[in-house]
Amino acid sequence: MEIEIATVGGYEEVGRQMTAVRAGDDIVIFDMGLNLSKVLIHDNLRTEGMHSLDLIDMGAIPDDRILSDLDGTVQAIVPTHGHLDHIGAISKLAHRYDAPIVSTPFTSALVEEEIDDEDKFHTDNDVVQMNAGGTMSIGERCELEFVNVTHSIIDAINPVLHTPEGAIVYGLDKRMDHTPVIGDPIDMKRFREIGREGEGVLCYIEDCTNANKKGRTPSEAVAREQLEDVMLSLEDYDGGIVATTFSSHIARVTSIVEFAERIGRQPVLLGRSMEQYSGTAERLGLVDFPDDLGMYGHRRSVDRAFERVMNEGKENYLPVVTGHQGEPRAMLTRMGRGETPYELDQGDKVIFSARVIPEPTNVGQRYQSEKLLGMQGARIYDDVHVSGHLRQEGHYQMLDALQPQHVIPAHQDMAGFSGYVELAGNQGYKLGRDLHVTSNGNTIQLVG
Ligand SMILES: [Zn+2]
Repeated sequence: MEIEIATVGGYEEVGRQMTAVRAGDDIVIFDMGLNLSKVLIHDNLRTEGMHSLDLIDMGAIPDDRILSDLDGTVQAIVPTHGHLDHIGAISKLAHRYDAPIVSTPFTSALVEEEIDDEDKFHTDNDVVQMNAGGTMSIGERCELEFVNVTHSIIDAINPVLHTPEGAIVYGLDKRMDHTPVIGDPIDMKRFREIGREGEGVLCYIEDCTNANKKGRTPSEAVAREQLEDVMLSLEDYDGGIVATTFSSHIARVTSIVEFAERIGRQPVLLGRSMEQYSGTAERLGLVDFPDDLGMYGHRRSVDRAFERVMNEGKENYLPVVTGHQGEPRAMLTRMGRGETPYELDQGDKVIFSARVIPEPTNVGQRYQSEKLLGMQGARIYDDVHVSGHLRQEGHYQMLDALQPQHVIPAHQDMAGFSGYVELAGNQGYKLGRDLHVTSNGNTIQLVG
């Protein structure tokens, strides 16, 4: 059976991930993501009404026109998890394919919300839920399997396409977490089995986000301990404490909520995406928030919540807000500009449970946000966080477990791939032979 990989997007950047695998006549698409930084660089650009071709020209979504070069039929579109760089282009591209979108329950719910928010295109592809451990037939001779992985969002999987020529393992995005706070540990046992059963692994496509970093990515339990340490140290502080993190990072939000209660403060989630992700997770029963946890997204309800906090005393509350990257329209930035009813006083605490994404726009915006907060008297707790992506030792462990014949580094640019090329080289892989560094819009024929 002919096996071919099309590296559609995310092979020159962290963003707009999309890869297509053709096995004989059948094609499976993994991820359809958005490169958000290409959107945010333009002020107030609303993508909901934009045409796909304009977004492709901007480099915001994958250029999927390369799929017309593949001789087969798309059987499934498989987003691995709910981050926008993996699902954010589904509302723009999926309608072109007569195929279901297959994903875990949380990812499916986020995909459906993306589709609902879209103004330009109507997407009526079936959204089919499949849990980690589940399998589905693809065409006559292939099978799709979901393996549970751990990442900075719940319900993440790595999909595996089993073909007569061996397994194709799509390894975006994960870290190796044995104590993930919410959900099950990464299923390394299953990866080891896949590496040893049948024809073994023909190809492994790997998340290289942190491939230039030595050592091991800590568990979410470590971020939780850091948060506990910071927040419990503030137990006797009688002024304002505000926290911010990735809205989609449900495990992290849960930890903040829990420690807020432990120091005698009522947590309240504020900001549109904070309400969206946590509300969705709660609705699906994937998280156990306190019954009286307030979540407010709309501007007016947020302001009302802030007014209540000010009336009843800042010392009784802990707002968890959007704005960890200093996004100009996010809640924390508005607080820094004094645009909300919440008044910061000298010595109030702001906890960033996030790291700045090392990209000039983010760095600049975050700098501005911190300065504005500082001018109001706030004091910053920085980088109370661990990454969701494997570092080098995790990559070695994955290669040991899967023993793939071919490896394709993804989810980075050329500079970002260099660490991976070196470590894969240490494991006996050779550039151009079985280690395929590539760029967007290429095809790699693995079996002809
Ligand atoms: Zn991700």
